[in-house]
Amino acid sequence: MGLLGIHGSISGSLSNAIVEADKLGCEALQIFTANQRMWAVKDPSGEDITEFASAWKKSSIKKIVSHNSYLVNLASFKPELLEKSRAAFMAEMRRVAVLKLDALILHPGSFTGGDYEGGVRNITDSINGAFAQVKDFPSMLLLETTAGSGSSIGGKFEDMALMIKKIKHREKVGVCFDTAHVFEAGYDTKNDYKKVFEEFDRVVGLERIGCFHINDSKTEFASKADRHWHIGQGHIGGEFFKKLVNDRRFKNIPMILETPKEGGMDMENLKLLHKMAR
Ligand SMILES: [Zn+2]
Ligand SMILES: [Zn+2]
Repeated sequence: MGLLGIHGSISGSLSNAIVEADKLGCEALQIFTANQRMWAVKDPSGEDITEFASAWKKSSIKKIVSHNSYLVNLASFKPELLEKSRAAFMAEMRRVAVLKLDALILHPGSFTGGDYEGGVRNITDSINGAFAQVKDFPSMLLLETTAGSGSSIGGKFEDMALMIKKIKHREKVGVCFDTAHVFEAGYDTKNDYKKVFEEFDRVVGLERIGCFHINDSKTEFASKADRHWHIGQGHIGGEFFKKLVNDRRFKNIPMILETPKEGGMDMENLKLLHKMAR
């Protein structure tokens, strides 16, 4: 079984997310290391870092990953936005390093105002530059699959393979496989579980998967529209998730819920996933 987890809130303190996930019996956790909707963010203090480490140690959480800020677009053709994005991304890498997180997940980016090849080049130049600046980054960098709408890069497995090929430190790079995004992008995981993962293996390599976002999809197959929904209640359906949580190839991989939390639904979704596990 994968390491089931949630996206925890850092409101109040970073370690609150650990407490929230631990209470729900999670083995994995995703956090934002800072406010994801602001450019100017505070880095954790020495005290924050110690408190976080001790809360983690006391918990049953095995792996913690970070989700990069939503504002960052490393593919951007607007010089000012690209520069701001690169600086924010490197600051995120440094926070992930000091908190000793297992991975940093980022959306590759959108090539608005430019072209696909240029967008990919902007992303990989940004990542190569960041690895040169943030020496000895101890964690994995995971490029997240996207629903493939408009100019967003990452809706095809080939996008992931191309970016990884162009990154120098590719031993530090993997993929975060978002089950809603992949289905919305046009891979029929509902009807062709085996075939989709065979294709991923052929194009990217299954060993690159460092995390799953386990979301059902509120929108239809190949909709290119990203709407996360509760496990088993969306267009993907429960059967897929049953296969996934029991897939031995992904035994120690974090599987993070990013479904709506209202009404105590994290607990309900986790219960259902545990029930599915053999
Ligand atoms: Zn994401
Ligand atoms: Zn999404």
